[in-house]
Amino acid sequence: MDKTIVLSTHNKGKLAEFEGIASRLGFKIITRDEAGIPHEFDVVEDGTTFEENSYKKAYEVMKMCGLPTMADDSGLMVDALDGQPGVYSSRFGGVEGDSKRNYTKLLGMMEGLPLEERKAHFTTVITLIYPGGETIVAKGECHGHIATEPKGEKGFGYDPVFIPDGYTETFGIMGPEVKNLISHRARALEELERILEERENK
Ligand code: IMP
Repeated sequence: MDKTIVLSTHNKGKLAEFEGIASRLGFKIITRDEAGIPHEFDVVEDGTTFEENSYKKAYEVMKMCGLPTMADDSGLMVDALDGQPGVYSSRFGGVEGDSKRNYTKLLGMMEGLPLEERKAHFTTVITLIYPGGETIVAKGECHGHIATEPKGEKGFGYDPVFIPDGYTETFGIMGPEVKNLISHRARALEELERILEERENK
């Protein structure tokens, strides 16, 4: 089975993670640049769900390059904040992609909350679209809690403040070796692999 797929993202942190996970699962990732997508071409993420946004990101890039394309849309949901920041994770602090502002705002809103009220999870929805129109959707979650202060510089986004269940350190401290085995993105890619295998064996 040919598992060569264009990844529709500008986010270098995500790209590195996808490449790490993909090589373990036998996918070959082609970057947008390698697929000839102009760097300035951007997809507006104006959907209200992860599903909508990941579909849009995959579809627009697939239309331009004519190759199987996947995109993920992901975010952090905090129980005590009724699921915020959710689809607005990347601009929660007011500036798109400013991770420090985003997690600083989050920590401020959660100040004083005890451990049992700091539960949170990351969700990823991956949409893979083939040029013929066939579309596959896979999801993954990673549960844990929000730390009281940022720690570690590895990863991206909310990694310095997220401690996954079963561990005592943030993703920012742990780095890719552990994160790529247990993250929402790893679980979504594993699910995608399962779906592709099932489809092949039909
Ligand atoms: P998007 O899928 O690019 O829209 O991601 C939305 C935002 O969610 C990112 O900008 C990050 O702030 C956050 N996020 C998604 N995945 C992760 C992760 O693995 N670690 C930390 N933050 C993440």
